Parts: sequence; structure tokens; C-alpha cells
Amino acid sequence: MAKVFCIANQKGGVGKTTTTVNLAAGLATLNQRVLLVDLDPQGNATMGSGVDKRSLARTVYDVLLGTATVADVRCASKVGGYDVLGANRELAGAEVELVDLEHRERRLRVALVPVLDEYDLVIIDCPPSLSLLTLNGLCSAHGVIVPMQCEYFALEGLTDLVNTIKRVHANLNRELEIIGLLRVMYDPRITLQQQVSEQLKGHFGDKVFNTVIPRNVRLAEAPSYGQPGVIFDPSARGAQAYLEFAREMVARVKRM
Ligand code: ADP
Ligand code: MG
Repeated sequence: MAKVFCIANQKGGVGKTTTTVNLAAGLATLNQRVLLVDLDPQGNATMGSGVDKRSLARTVYDVLLGTATVADVRCASKVGGYDVLGANRELAGAEVELVDLEHRERRLRVALVPVLDEYDLVIIDCPPSLSLLTLNGLCSAHGVIVPMQCEYFALEGLTDLVNTIKRVHANLNRELEIIGLLRVMYDPRITLQQQVSEQLKGHFGDKVFNTVIPRNVRLAEAPSYGQPGVIFDPSARGAQAYLEFAREMVARVKRM
């Protein structure tokens, strides 16, 4: 049965979507059966997987509202080698429409159950907020992966996320744990980044992944070709790092 991971950080532009897409594609190259769930109305993970969000008749929105099943809605990322439960702008309305529904935080969790046997891992890309959508992600997951840049305010933003995760763990999902912090867009030439990186390790110990993702322009270029970076240019330093991260995750899952 699949292990489910949420890629979350309430800050925007920290590398959630890049991590989601490249982890999914990296895992696929390791022969893992992967479902990517896009929970962001921006639909960047959908597009970055080579699936045109504008052409989708149904999306994760329909799944959350219970008008379609995951099996109805998912499609294949041919370029990535994994399945995608896509999103587009329609999902922005879900926030309001979910409020009146029963078990509004558990809609995704319940919907995923029938397909969990078909996958080894499910990777969920969260929007940049601690909204009802993110809550649906956290309620569905065994673990949270937090991508973060080693910047001065990085730790500050982490407190809110950690508190939310604790609350979800206590009230909604006893399985949930922080799997790890992933250092992304890392530039070792910048002294401050080295210092924050050391601080993170001091604070969170083995909750910090060994793999470090460097800042690498090829990763930023890949989405405009509708491809995960690890497929677009597998030899680039960023792609190599994400492939290493995928291997680290496979080893981590074996210990769960
Ligand atoms: P989020 O999903 O958290 O908003 P994204 O994954 O969309 O963040 O990343 C924000 C921007 O940074 C995007 O333009 C993306 O291409 C770029 N980016 C992400 N990771 C890297 C990296 N390791 N090196 C260079 N650019 C990156
Ligand atoms: Mg994103």
C-alpha cells in the first residue's frame, strides 16, 4: 500500500512544486509507482508534469467535492512516468464550497483509499497557505516533507507549519509526522546559507535530509518545456540532486 507524502510550506516560491515534480519523476526512474496530487489552484505541478491544466475536463476539485473518483480524474504524465491528479483555477473555489461539507478536511484522504494499492508513493503538492486544501493534504499523509531555503527568516516561518502539523497529528491524523526538511536552492558560496544550514541541522538533527538541492537554472527552465527537471536534463546538478533525494526517500520509506 502506498505511503503518502505532503510537500508543504506556507511560503510561496520556496520550491514545493519543483520538489514535488522532480521527486515524482525521480521515483518513477527507480521503478516506483507514483501518483502526484496537485492541490494548488495554480496547477504548476500539473503543467510541469506535461499535462495541460486547461484541457482537463475534471480535476482534483471534483474529487474533493465528491462528484468524481480519483480513478475517473487521474491521467498519465507520459514524460514523467507517473500518474497525475491535476488541478487548475477551478480548485480555488473548493475552499469555499468545502466549508459546508461533512468531514471537509478528510475529503482527499477518503478519496485516495481505493487507489492506494496501485501505487508505492503518493506525492501531494500543497498551495502556499495553511488553508483547507493544505489541511486535506496533511490529513491524507503519512509524512510531511518541508522544502526550505537557507535564509534568515526560514526558521521563523517553520513555527506555524510545525504547530499546524502538531494540531493535525493530535486531532485528525495520528499517522502524520515530519519526515524531513529539504534544503533547496542552496548556494554554498553564500556564508549565510551555510550558517542557516548548520543551524537547521543543530535544531532538527536527522530530520534534515542528507541530500541538498543546489540552485540550478536547468530546474527552473524545465517547466516551460512541460518536463520535470530530472527528465529535461538528467545530467544537470539540480537533476542529479533530486535523483539522489528520490533514492534517499526510497530508503526512508523502507524503514517506515
Ligand atoms: P513553490 O511551489 O514553493 O511556490 P516553486 O517550486 O514553484 O516554489 O519554485 C519557485 C521558483 O523557483 C520557480 O520559478 C522555480 O523554477 C524556481 N526554483 C525552484 N527550485 C530551484 C532550484 N533548485 N534552482 C533554481 N531555481 C529553482
Ligand atoms: Mg507551487
